[in-house]
Amino acid sequence: MTGSARPPAARKRLLLLIPTTTYRTEDFMEAARRLDVDLVVASDRPNVMSGEFPESLLTLPFADPAAAVAEMREYAARRPLDAVVPVDDLTTEAAAAIAGALGLRANPIAAVRATRNKLQMRELLARSGVPSPPFTSFAVTDDPRAAARRVKYPCVLKPLVLSASRGVIRADGEAAFVAAFERIAAILASPDVRELGDGAGRILVESFVPGVEVALEGLLVDGALEPLALFDKPDPLDGPFFEETIYVTPSRLPESTQAAIREGAAQAASALGLGDGPVHAELRVNQDERGRDRAWMIEIAARSIGGLCSRTLTFGTGLSLEEIILRHALALPIASLERERRAAGVMMIPIPKGGILEEVEGLDEARAVPLVEDAIISMHKGQEIVPLPEGSRYLGFIFSRADTPAQAEAALREAHRRLRFVIR
Ligand code: ADP
Repeated sequence: MTGSARPPAARKRLLLLIPTTTYRTEDFMEAARRLDVDLVVASDRPNVMSGEFPESLLTLPFADPAAAVAEMREYAARRPLDAVVPVDDLTTEAAAAIAGALGLRANPIAAVRATRNKLQMRELLARSGVPSPPFTSFAVTDDPRAAARRVKYPCVLKPLVLSASRGVIRADGEAAFVAAFERIAAILASPDVRELGDGAGRILVESFVPGVEVALEGLLVDGALEPLALFDKPDPLDGPFFEETIYVTPSRLPESTQAAIREGAAQAASALGLGDGPVHAELRVNQDERGRDRAWMIEIAARSIGGLCSRTLTFGTGLSLEEIILRHALALPIASLERERRAAGVMMIPIPKGGILEEVEGLDEARAVPLVEDAIISMHKGQEIVPLPEGSRYLGFIFSRADTPAQAEAALREAHRRLRFVIR
């Protein structure tokens, strides 16, 4: 049913769903511009320009997919759409609902919903036998002391519905469990979180999985997982909070370990029912009794890598990750899914402490470090900086490219050493 109301040679029309909180507007817009498509952008809040471009700047209720579908059915009857692409977690469900209703490439809505609820995800992974930590869950209203006596340690407590490690806390014993539980309950009581619905009323508790952590970026094509990039996370993520810092690709893990990771991610996607478009998976690797690698699924999302991290990736003769995602959604040819040969790294700049950001010093010195491509501060002066586990915004990003992953990593660390944050 796509494109039926137009001559075959017409430009394809793409709907991008862009939540106001995303980091990725610019990169997706740039990718869309390079494709020569008729671009329609929907946001959850009215754009100042909406009045002037009523057909290309839309406002859609992302949190109410049924209402968003009704609006887009009416729109598509007048102006047919060829693809619907969510640019971040917050719009994956609305995108699946709209694309499904219009007969376009999409994941089943139930699958996307499961990626947005960590308890449902664990249940589906366990049911399909995907290696994933044992888990249980509690209502935020439960007595944390009683709960603390029922779990095994070390464990990780986390909200069902948040992301970017917000509210994820390791506990090694009962006292730490109770403190973590109360801290997460307070996060879940804040108005922006309560809006996220039912899932905000529970806390998931799972066994702590020791080992190194990786992130796999992939594209699902007709249900099969095409790996795009595997990132090592060279800084240990052992808690109590789990702040993301350095990602470096290609991975330095042995090929057999990488194969176990790819296999784990593919199994997880199929366990959830995901079959189309980008996925971002976090896994931890350790060894079983016989010394064989085991890749444990921490989480898989129906979207690409967050923050500005996708800027590390280039494919074929220069395609960005965003162009690959858009081309896939529009069924346009993709010359190659092969990442460039060079190593690349990104550092999500760690938050040294909470407070008001007054000054960032050393940015030019950081950018001048050999192999560093850019350093970007994504918070503005005067903004309140909130560390984990309560916070969810990144202070900024440093990017590097080098011949080897070790050089890319070292350049990021050197650039970071040159930055100073004045926080009041
Ligand atoms: P979010 O979606 O908020 O990022 P995750 O469930 O992915 O939440 O957890 C964030 C981070 O916390 C993970 O990347 C990992 O480092 C750590 N983590 C989460 N669960 C576990 C676990 N069961 N064992 C070990 N580390 C974990």
